[in-house]
Amino acid sequence: MAPKPRIVVIGAGPAGLMAAETAARANCAVTIFDAMPTPARKFLMAGRSGLNITHSEGFDRFLTRYGAAANWLTPMLADFSPADMRRFCASLGVETFVGSSGRVFPKAMKASPLLRAWLARLAMLGVELRTRARFVDLTPSNEAIVEIEGRRAAAPADATILALGGASWPRLGSDGNWSDLLARRGVALALFRPSNCGLAIAWSEPFRQKFEGRAVKTARFSYGSRSVAGEAVVTRRGLEGGPVYALSADIGAALSAGRAATIAIDLKPDMDESTIAARLARRRGKDSFANALRKAIGLGPLGVALLRESDQAAAARNAPDLAALVKACALPVTATAGLERAISAAGGLRREEVDDGLMLKKLPGLFAAGEMLDWDAPTGGYLLQACFATGKRAGAAAAAYATRA
Ligand SMILES: Cc1cc2nc3c(=O)[nH]c(=O)nc-3n(C[C@H](O)[C@H](O)[C@H](O)COP(=O)(O)OP(=O)(O)OC[C@H]3O[C@@H](n4cnc5c(N)ncnc54)[C@H](O)[C@@H]3O)c2cc1C
Repeated sequence: MAPKPRIVVIGAGPAGLMAAETAARANCAVTIFDAMPTPARKFLMAGRSGLNITHSEGFDRFLTRYGAAANWLTPMLADFSPADMRRFCASLGVETFVGSSGRVFPKAMKASPLLRAWLARLAMLGVELRTRARFVDLTPSNEAIVEIEGRRAAAPADATILALGGASWPRLGSDGNWSDLLARRGVALALFRPSNCGLAIAWSEPFRQKFEGRAVKTARFSYGSRSVAGEAVVTRRGLEGGPVYALSADIGAALSAGRAATIAIDLKPDMDESTIAARLARRRGKDSFANALRKAIGLGPLGVALLRESDQAAAARNAPDLAALVKACALPVTATAGLERAISAAGGLRREEVDDGLMLKKLPGLFAAGEMLDWDAPTGGYLLQACFATGKRAGAAAAAYATRA
C-alpha cells in the first residue's frame, strides 16, 4: 500500500485542529506541532466567557460582519456554515443553544469538554500532536523547521499548514513572531492591530474598589455616531465587554490620531430624557441623591456611581441636566487595551498572498488558516466561525495538493 501523503500543521488552535481533522479525513498522515506545553490555550480562554462559538442570525447578515473580507470568506463560510458548526459540536457530544442575543454557545458554557472530545477524535483519526515544538523557519522547499528541546529539524511533509493565530494575548501562544519570518520571504502582511479590546478609563479609587467586576447591564454605549446596546464589565483598568469591543476600533483610531475620545453610556435606554427629567423633578427633599435616582428611575448604585465618575457635581444638577447625564454619561477613554489583552488582532497575511485554497502563492506547498489571515470581525461567534471555516478550507486544499504531489 502506498504511504499516506504527509501533512504538517503548525498551531493547535481551532483553525489548526480543524485543518488537521479535514486532512486526516482525506486520508493523510497528519502531525500537529505547537509551541506551548498544551494545545488550544486561547480557545480554552474563550471558554471562560462562555465560548460564543457562532451566531444564529440569517447567513446574509452573518456575512456582513466580516466587512471588507466578506467576499473573500464567503465560499469558506458557506462550506462550513454556522449550522455546520452546531452539527460539528453535536458530533463531539456537545449540545449548543441560542442565547437571547442570537449568539450560540455550548450548553456547558465552556470549551474544555469540546476540546477534550475533539482531541480524542483526532487521536482516533491517527493525528499526532507534538507540543513544546516551535516553528522557527522554513526549508527551501517550504517545509517547516521546528525546534524541540533546543534541537532544530525539518518536519518533512507533502504540504504544511500554518495556523499560528494572530498576535493578541501572546502569553497564550499566538505571539505573531511568524510575521517576520514570512515577511523575509517577501510575503505581504498587514500590520497587527488590537481589535475587540477593552477601554482604559481612569476610575477614581473608591469607584474601582467598590465596583470592579460588576456589570453595567441593559445600557447603550456610544462613540461618535455608533451606538451598541448590551453589557460591559467594570475592570481595574476600565471597561470590557461586547459593546465596548464593538466601539474599540473607532476609539483606538481617534486616540492614535491624537484626538480625545469619550464613551457615552445611556444608563436608561428604555426611558426618554423628558420622562426621566419629569420623574427626577418630583424628587423629595429628604431623599439622598442615590435614593432619589433609585425611586424615580430605578437606577442602581453602579449607575449612580457612574454619574458621579462622569460629573463630580452630578448630585447638585437640576432635573433636566441630570436626565441628560443619565442618557449620556460621558467617560473619557485614556487608551484602548493593547494586543496583549485584545480579544483578536486585525491584520496579518494579506488576501492577495494566498490562492482560493489558502496556499501562499510565493511559497507553494505552504498553506495558512485562522486568525493569522488578514480579516477581522466583531465578537459574537464570528471569530471562531471563520477560524474553523478557513481551517477546513486549508486542510482540504493541502490534502488535495499533497495527494497530487
Ligand atoms: C479572552 C478571549 C475570549 C475570546 N472569546 C471568543 C468567543 O467567545 N468567540 C469567538 O468567536 N472568539 C473568541 N475569541 C477569539 C478566538 O479565541 C480566536 O479568534 C481563535 O482562538 C483563533 O484561532 P486560531 O486557531 O487562528 O489561533 P490560536 O487559537 O491563537 O492558536 C494558534 C496556535 O499556534 C501556536 N503557535 C503560534 N506560534 C507558533 C510557533 N512559532 N510555533 C508553534 N506553534 C505556534 C500557539 O501556541 C497556538 O496554540 C476570544 C479570544 C480571547 C483572547
